[in-house]
Amino acid sequence: MKDELLLHICCGPCSIYPVEVLKEKGINFKGLFYNPNIHPFLEFERRVQALEEITEVLGFEVIYHPSGYGLHQWLEGVWSKCPNRPGRCHMCYKMRLEETARISKELGFTCFSSTLLYSIYQDHDAIREIGNGVARTHGLKFYYEDFRAGWKEGKDRARTIGIYTQPYCGCILSEEERYKKRIERQRKRFREEVRKGP
Ligand code: SF4
Repeated sequence: MKDELLLHICCGPCSIYPVEVLKEKGINFKGLFYNPNIHPFLEFERRVQALEEITEVLGFEVIYHPSGYGLHQWLEGVWSKCPNRPGRCHMCYKMRLEETARISKELGFTCFSSTLLYSIYQDHDAIREIGNGVARTHGLKFYYEDFRAGWKEGKDRARTIGIYTQPYCGCILSEEERYKKRIERQRKRFREEVRKGP
């Protein structure tokens, strides 16, 4: 029996290369957008829109998880248990891969994978390990491939298509980490202004 794969998609730009690889290999797949880690809501909407544009250009189907925007779900399931990196990210991967596996089982997919394996900014080895562990628990296969090989190709393609590419990973904490220097500069300026007085 041929494998039917459910591909967890973290965002539009990261899906381009993995989707093209799966198509080239003739693997039957569908995407799943389940990312309660993307905040705030307007950013979540922008990323959904970017993925919709990509699906139109590349021609593949995506299931959008009915829970939609998941700030509270993520805060309870990840941040409240482990607020700092790297544990926070590992729990965040696990949350998304667990749900991908659960849906794979429910809908009759035989294996699953994730576009997280494309990003050069994620903990690749941890994603592979967590994916394999989750697959074992659910009696499924985890399709592993080092999609990072196509990092530049995927990025160039995203630029040509002209879709939105996000400046930070996803959670509100990663946004703060991304702008750490700017935030510090701003604090410094505010402190100096207060010191100067009226
Ligand atoms: S930085 Fe990214 S992977 Fe890590 S917890 Fe935040 S959204 Fe998840």
